[in-house]
Amino acid sequence: MLSLEDVRVSYGGVQAVRGVSLAMREGQVVGLVGANGAGKTSVLNAITGLVPRRGRVSFRGEDLEGLKTADIVRRGMVQVAQGRQLFPEMTVLENLELGAFLLPPADVPELREKMFVRFPILKDRAAQQAGTLSGGEQQMLAMARALMGRPRALLVDEPCLGLSPKMVGVLGDFIRQVNAEGISVMVVEQNTAFVFGLAHHAYVIENGQVALDGHPDELRRDDRVRSAYLGI
Ligand code: ATP
Repeated sequence: MLSLEDVRVSYGGVQAVRGVSLAMREGQVVGLVGANGAGKTSVLNAITGLVPRRGRVSFRGEDLEGLKTADIVRRGMVQVAQGRQLFPEMTVLENLELGAFLLPPADVPELREKMFVRFPILKDRAAQQAGTLSGGEQQMLAMARALMGRPRALLVDEPCLGLSPKMVGVLGDFIRQVNAEGISVMVVEQNTAFVFGLAHHAYVIENGQVALDGHPDELRRDDRVRSAYLGI
């Protein structure tokens, strides 16, 4: 469904991504783990066209070269940015409905109701400013907003950041549910245990490169992964 070949990203003289190749098959959850500054966000931003890149990215058989981010969203790929990036002074409902900006307005009420069934808290708080929600609720709203665009692939950047362990569990269940509905999910996280509990395949990113990849069960047996990323 999604493949990267020799993707490179530079910021001025800093090479943040140095020839990353990876793949996500239809229906998979794929994890990208790594330390602070390893280049994970830059990989996601390179996929969705938010930063200039070299190398090849293809999505559902199509080369994304030259496409703008909005065109990529139209093709069914939606990114949930690190830090949620909600509009804090707009209401929960307004933020939610923004996610459907490419869909016919007639489709919005049904999608909105679906999100309210999935996240009753968003219905209760529909008229409240998004900035007043808790971190966990904001993450849920950011995910719900992304789903309003009916994506085929969801790219989620550091969803666990700042969440309580209980909320991390809720988030994990939610990602499993979304995936069970047929949406492929790429998750970028420093919380390696979280990703290993969800992913069908994971990539360890170090210094802008793929250092290791495999099924989480396989990676859990690797001594380097155990000590550097799982703390065991
Ligand atoms: P984190 O987990 O801290 O978000 P990350 O693995 O997602 O880290 P990136 O955010 O992709 O890593 O950053 C990779 C490298 O690129 C870092 O050294 C970072 O300082 C640098 N970098 C990222 N964005 C920019 C930018 N806009 N301008 C200059 N350097 C940047």
